[in-house]
Amino acid sequence: MSARRWTAVLTGLALPLGIVATTTSSPANAIPTQSHCGTEASGSGNNGFVDHAQLSRTLEGIERSTKGLVDVEVVGQSNQGRDIYTARVGEGDTVVFVESQIHGNENHGTEALLDLLRRWGGSTPEAAALREEVTIVAIPRLNVDGGERDTRQNEMTWADVVAAFPQLAGVAPAWNYNTRVGGFDVNRDFNPDLDYVPQPADFPGNSADTGWYITPESQTVRDVYRGLETEFGTVDYFVDLHNQWSCYATEDLESMSPLSISAKFIDDPAEFGTWPKFDMEASQRANVAVYEALQDQGQSGYGDVTLYPQDTNLPGTALGSFALRGSAVVLFETSSQTQYDGMKRNGMLRKQIEIGLGGLVDAVADGSIDTLDPSVYDTIPQRVYLPAD
Ligand SMILES: [Zn+2]
Repeated sequence: MSARRWTAVLTGLALPLGIVATTTSSPANAIPTQSHCGTEASGSGNNGFVDHAQLSRTLEGIERSTKGLVDVEVVGQSNQGRDIYTARVGEGDTVVFVESQIHGNENHGTEALLDLLRRWGGSTPEAAALREEVTIVAIPRLNVDGGERDTRQNEMTWADVVAAFPQLAGVAPAWNYNTRVGGFDVNRDFNPDLDYVPQPADFPGNSADTGWYITPESQTVRDVYRGLETEFGTVDYFVDLHNQWSCYATEDLESMSPLSISAKFIDDPAEFGTWPKFDMEASQRANVAVYEALQDQGQSGYGDVTLYPQDTNLPGTALGSFALRGSAVVLFETSSQTQYDGMKRNGMLRKQIEIGLGGLVDAVADGSIDTLDPSVYDTIPQRVYLPAD
């Protein structure tokens, strides 16, 4: 099996220049690239992840157990009428806005956020010091409808959109509408102009152009973002927690990479208007903070972080639009959407996000993020795709 895998990788892919499979030793606990890459349905279902009712109860419980230090609010409703929550903790002048599960079948970020909210709202001196320096606003599971039916998309028809925006009657449905599923990829529905109003001429659009805020879920994120911008001037950090295909390797093909990260979603900021606060180096420093927090875990296998492809241009994503507005942005792409390998490695994967995101917030709180070298970003290994076996 391993010989077939390596043959497939080495012949089927354009590897980065100069990369060869080396024989340098791996960390003791690195996941070998010979690990199974399956496409089987998640055998154990999603029982290890909270459903919407459990998420609601868990957030209530965290608010209660932290005596309100973690403040939970309903900030909007999904297209199917489910509540969308923010959990806010800390009163510092720097704000970190974190969202998970904009894609409904990408659960690990939500689980990690629940763990982190308990930590940030805790009674330790470290947590109290952190709360003085930073304000964290989290949306755990934005796409609550997609989470409930285990789809990437939300649950919304094009007719629902036209009912809300009658000016769109007769135009071709947005390119990110999936007819089979009956829903939108919400993470293509963002626009750096928070006041944008959908125009017929802007449809069906494409991935290299901005989105429209036609879904209630993206509208909810926009409204929270706008509120934070009013309160803080700039939303200093925006972090989006996703999952990707289960099987990527590090650039040297020594280990599986359980996490890819990225700072880059916009090819040319000038293409989308004038955005003077766009700050690529701030985004790179934020990614370096995540990377270094995971390297500090030593021989755990958590350190095999890779860079998400850097040739993307996705202004309709939350990350792309908010980067233009001046947020330092971080994408987490954790291994394994639910359809790929179910609950396998669930504990490790959520812990990995907790370490990386927790490390970023710690670096923001103690100010050390300002001393990080943004050029370290370019030394993070590229990810290499491994096909299913
Ligand atoms: Zn995603």
